[in-house]
Amino acid sequence: MFSSLLIANRGEIACRIARTAKAMGLRVVAVYSEADRDAAHVAIADTAHLIGPAQASQSYLNGDAIIAAAQAAGAEAIHPGYGFLAENADFAEAVLAAGLVWVGPPPSAIRAMGSKAEAKALMAAAGVPLVPGYHEADQDSARLGAAADEIGYPVLLKASAGGGGKGMRVVETAEALEEAIKSAQREARAGFGDDRLLVEKYLIQPRHIEMQVLADNAGHIVHLWERDCSPQRRHQKVIEEAPAPDFSAEQRAAMGAAAIAAARAVDYRGAGTVEFIVDHQGAFYFMEMNTRLQVEHPVTEMICGLDLVAWQLKIAAGGDLDFDQAAVPLSGHAIEARLYAEDPVRRFLPQTGQLHHLDLPRESRLAATTLRVDAGVRRGDAVTIYYDPMIAKIIAHGPDRDHARRALVAALDDTEVVGVTTNRAFLARLLSAPAFAAGAVDTGFIERHLDDLAPPPAPATAEELALTTLWLWQGGGPLPPPGDPYSPWADNAGWRLNMAGRLAFTLVNGGTEWRADLTDLDGAWRLSVDADGAATDFAVGPVDVDGATITAVLDGRRMSARVIGAGESCYLFHAGREVRIEHRDRTVVTAGDAAVEGHLTAPMPGRIIDIAVVAGTAVRRGDKLLVLEAMKMEHTIRAPAAGTVAALHVTVGEQVAEGLDLITFDAEEG
Ligand code: ADP
Ligand code: ADP
Ligand code: MG
Repeated sequence: MFSSLLIANRGEIACRIARTAKAMGLRVVAVYSEADRDAAHVAIADTAHLIGPAQASQSYLNGDAIIAAAQAAGAEAIHPGYGFLAENADFAEAVLAAGLVWVGPPPSAIRAMGSKAEAKALMAAAGVPLVPGYHEADQDSARLGAAADEIGYPVLLKASAGGGGKGMRVVETAEALEEAIKSAQREARAGFGDDRLLVEKYLIQPRHIEMQVLADNAGHIVHLWERDCSPQRRHQKVIEEAPAPDFSAEQRAAMGAAAIAAARAVDYRGAGTVEFIVDHQGAFYFMEMNTRLQVEHPVTEMICGLDLVAWQLKIAAGGDLDFDQAAVPLSGHAIEARLYAEDPVRRFLPQTGQLHHLDLPRESRLAATTLRVDAGVRRGDAVTIYYDPMIAKIIAHGPDRDHARRALVAALDDTEVVGVTTNRAFLARLLSAPAFAAGAVDTGFIERHLDDLAPPPAPATAEELALTTLWLWQGGGPLPPPGDPYSPWADNAGWRLNMAGRLAFTLVNGGTEWRADLTDLDGAWRLSVDADGAATDFAVGPVDVDGATITAVLDGRRMSARVIGAGESCYLFHAGREVRIEHRDRTVVTAGDAAVEGHLTAPMPGRIIDIAVVAGTAVRRGDKLLVLEAMKMEHTIRAPAAGTVAALHVTVGEQVAEGLDLITFDAEEG
């Protein structure tokens, strides 16, 4: 075995490979771009080398720089992870030519499978079933058209050099073909520098099922069961599971044999995946082989109890499998969800931003299940335009599919991300959909049910607004008992009255402005949330705030939520929901209508940013008098009762100390 390994990747896969390599006693060398100086994968490695600017083309895709880093660091082997250079046969050859160990299949196998067209020709010869289609060299559009007619519409155009769904077009009719060919060619040329296309029968509502294979140097090839990756958006996976639901032992054996035949046909070595598409009748057809580790490999690891990266390293070092097919375990069921920075409501548009807050679950909440979380980012890291927007993979394993499914939903409910929009709620909804629970999801399911799976965010409920109000008020400690001299009223009010007080917050959610009033009424707290006159009242019992966690008794019901403040927004996580509530201002007013006379003082140190009145202005109760900016928030001081401004003691722009007299106020009688 070699003793040091360079990982030519970043993010969660670089972290994941580093962990196994370190556990095997290897010295780990990371490479990083200028954008990744402080990245998690750099922190985990023993040494790290800067390989270039943020743009992947100049760093993680710069094979020369990576090989130079390996030589400078004295690394003996290179693991490419997935994406980037993982399926680049030229890079694999350059690694070998530099005298380094390549942790991957032979370059010839990568090359053979790299072209979907050539791979299909090879597979046909090896007796692996293919989707009816055309994969010849002649790219004349008349020839492609004749092929499409022969196959029968709808057809699927694919970039022969393709990957990641690029250059794929579903074509419904002969009339639409010409245009689709042109645009698929353009995308393929831009994406892969190669515009060759193949045409396939477009299967209706198929499933995507793939087989993990492992091949050693002595010609032993085993499969490690299948994964069902049917839940896809834009032909890209978001949820994967092993084993596939409703997959018979006969289907498993037949697909396993086909996958092994496919690997054997290209003299495969190491870990690889043969992807199949499965039609209504359960017939399966070869789609492509991914000559690398895959994003979804953890579900296989969890049902087999094998470490695929450890096997990749052992085989790359010349080792052979010490078990045969009959000894491959299949225990329980595992499901993975890919947490992405993307907006499902806007057609899964990737999102960028800083992860102000990131709290990923650590343990499963459900008995008999286990959780694995593979993340490559930490709180404070940024999701940038440069790299894949995946934040983490969350994988649950249980004795059966439903346990794993429910554990994963619970884990997603426990996941908190603030700073970028994610697909978290979408994933939880998808996993909870009856069709998914029944194991009946095909590759078009997400597209067909997008409106249900990614509805526009539901408005905040009165309870959620109430919890946010209490959290805002408390900001870190328990609510004092009503009537207490240290009550919020006493502590923060601009003035004191010998009567019940009221504290009002303005909150905005989904374009609606809410007013939340917290009132000390005869020694009991009442909270009313109100928009457009439709108010909900709560009797407030004990409230406890511990950092982001708030527990409160509302109308005798104990409720708990997490609230994370970021700038003027509060993100409330509650029972799997995620609600953004903006906090506009906090106002101190009185509840009573008795006469008020006295001085309005600054509730906290701050700056006067607006004055709405002059000496002599007559006001009604609740009218805005002035606005104080403190702690980046605006606090509106309103008239405690109807009356007149007797004197104004401050000017706009003035910095005021806490307790300073702002206004002398004469309240009206009655
Ligand atoms: P396929 O869909 O062909 O089976 P996978 O689902 O295994 O492929 O994903 C491969 C994809 O992983 C790449 O095309 C890329 O978008 C993404 N990727 C590349 N590098 C990373 C990384 N470091 N972390 C997460 N995802 C990555
Ligand atoms: P990529 O290289 O982008 O992973 P694949 O050939 O693996 O491309 O196809 C990606 C996805 O597209 C599949 O998982 C499947 O959902 C869909 N797909 C591919 N071929 C067909 C087909 N012939 N009919 C219907 N859907 C297909
Ligand atoms: Mg694929």
